[in-house]
Amino acid sequence: MADEIAKAQTAQPGGDTIFGKIIRKEIPAKIFYEDEQCIAFHDIAPQAPTHFLVVPKKPIPQLSKAEDSDAALLGHLMIVAKKCAAEVGLAKGYRLVLNDGPHGGQEVFHLHIHVLGGRQLHWPPG
Ligand code: AMP
Repeated sequence: MADEIAKAQTAQPGGDTIFGKIIRKEIPAKIFYEDEQCIAFHDIAPQAPTHFLVVPKKPIPQLSKAEDSDAALLGHLMIVAKKCAAEVGLAKGYRLVLNDGPHGGQEVFHLHIHVLGGRQLHWPPG
């Protein structure tokens, strides 16, 4: 079993996460975008030549726990994702991924959008 799947199956929802610590600048990360609602930083274990995360400052644990009132925030994350993708030079395209829960492969229970690019991505994912 791949490491990340094993981690996802044992990850615990709830409470503070490593992304909360990154947002509060308690631990370092390669943050390259920040506004009042979200941050973007490079993934520590990139799965493509470019792999970054867009993370809301609001600690929504996962998409399936988001509320109707989060709609504008969730839309904002996608707009930030596409602006950041352009900024880092992903002119030939990229993929957004949002993992939810154990079957989705979620390890960190603070909602985040992965943006992957810089190589040909294949379909379907594993
Ligand atoms: P997910 O499996 O969708 O919950 O994704 C969590 C992602 O967070 C993985 O791609 C990890 O490599 C990434 N990650 C975990 N810790 C850090 C960190 N300290 N800095 C940057 N990325 C991280």
